[in-house]
Amino acid sequence: MNTLINAVIFSILSLITIGYGGITYSQDLVVYSARKEHLIQPVFEQYTKETGVRINYITDKAPVLLQRLKAEGNNTPADLLITVDAGNLWHAAKEGVLHPVRSDTLTTNIPSHLRDPDNMWFGLSLRARTIIHSTQRVKPGELTTYGDLAKPQWKGRLVLRTSKKVYNQSLVAMVLKAHGQKKTAEIVRGWVSNLAAPPFSNDTKTIEAIIAGQGDVGIVNTYYFGRLVREKPDIPVALFWPNQAKGGVHVNVSGAGVVAASKKMHQAVIFLEWLSGGTAQKMFADANMEYPVNPDVTIHPSVAAWGSFEQNKINLINAGENQASAIRLMDRAGYK
Ligand code: FE
Repeated sequence: MNTLINAVIFSILSLITIGYGGITYSQDLVVYSARKEHLIQPVFEQYTKETGVRINYITDKAPVLLQRLKAEGNNTPADLLITVDAGNLWHAAKEGVLHPVRSDTLTTNIPSHLRDPDNMWFGLSLRARTIIHSTQRVKPGELTTYGDLAKPQWKGRLVLRTSKKVYNQSLVAMVLKAHGQKKTAEIVRGWVSNLAAPPFSNDTKTIEAIIAGQGDVGIVNTYYFGRLVREKPDIPVALFWPNQAKGGVHVNVSGAGVVAASKKMHQAVIFLEWLSGGTAQKMFADANMEYPVNPDVTIHPSVAAWGSFEQNKINLINAGENQASAIRLMDRAGYK
């Protein structure tokens, strides 16, 4: 009898503590998100407004959330994992914390290269990792491809973010997919020998180095450029879309997957489907100056103003599958 009472008390306590600041009701969903709070909260609130379903969430870095999901195992309160970069999503799937989702809505709304072929994760917003250049010292006509940034004309003029960031690991992984080991190693070695400064800790610093005249050309995610331009419209830098004749611009996603141990898988799928639809797509992309993955949804005018481009349509699963070899290759090339 005592055991039974203890079990009941434990269940009640668990129900309260997994509420993250409130009691969890039966319909509510729990999201673990590596996408920042201010970018997701308005979208979650909109869902609550439309459906009455409340979204409880925690935000942290992707590796921390992944560790947490693994540690919690079957006892996790999480229903959905949201994170940035296909490399991270792939990793979560490999670690077994996601569950495949068969949904016509998701496969219709999300282009196939932006979701896992095994339906473990789905891209929800798209960012391009593209070339940025000084408008004072570089003419767009001098630029062509990511690979050409390895050429001697860029000696002492290239600025890059650290190779430790998953964004660059995914970029090099996709270059590996397109060009193979030998050519990719040549490209990365060329980048390293062209560096104007040691790699920066983030994309914003990389852009600021070009503005300050420390370098002339770099590779960054589009929304970091967007944020700086929003603050200072006159900064002397511009985006360039490389690889337009062949291969396309490297794109990546923020995305989500249903947690394998979710007790509300059906509701989680409905929420994920909603995230791939018009209202959510617009909010999700616009909040961070990204592109919606759903091609039926209009791009924010400030983002559309950067011009249209051909994107690399090779499935982003390659960013995960080639991640380990990309890291090894960058290490051997001396890319810090
Ligand atoms: Fe970012």
